[in-house]
Amino acid sequence: INTRAGLDLKALIRTIPDYPKPGVLFRDVTTLLANPAGLRASIDELIWPFLGAPLDHVAGIEARGFILGGAVAHELGRGFVPIRKKGKLPYATIGQDYELEYGVDTVEIHADAIGPGDKVLLVDDLVATGGTADAAIDLIRKSGGEVVAACFVIDLPDLGGAERLRRKGVTVHTLLAFE
Ligand code: AMP
Repeated sequence: INTRAGLDLKALIRTIPDYPKPGVLFRDVTTLLANPAGLRASIDELIWPFLGAPLDHVAGIEARGFILGGAVAHELGRGFVPIRKKGKLPYATIGQDYELEYGVDTVEIHADAIGPGDKVLLVDDLVATGGTADAAIDLIRKSGGEVVAACFVIDLPDLGGAERLRRKGVTVHTLLAFE
């Protein structure tokens, strides 16, 4: 998949078999982020549908969503709102549990980060089952915000996450897919 800059972003992503556990193909974006042209093209491709769109905040999911989301927020001229794992944010928070393969996890947002009616763009590196982004969307909605779209560099379509988010009424923008 080539960007307008003529760059093959997919080729810059490193795949690590059996990490963090056997059978998983881990799509490592650190090699993409470390490449100057790759980082710039990724951010340019993430933001283009939202140039000129009404938007109040960019929210990123810990941890790789912070790197991409910070750059997206800067380019779009908006502020950045972190969505973090439980217990990491210092002020009053709103939380949302979500199912993992084994057990439950929780994401949190500062209770005052998003105001009623605020329009939010959600950013993460990769959508797999969509469970994490689904919880983040619920958090933004609980805060009174409206999710304009969710964007990711990588889609794993076999796991159905992007479809799951679309069924929740969210526009999904992804740059490339690993089948
Ligand atoms: P999910 O909630 O199943 O959509 O998983 C998405 C989150 O887990 C993202 O924050 C990803 O960074 C991470 N993730 C899930 N699967 C992979 C994978 N195969 N390679 C790299 N990161 C992954």
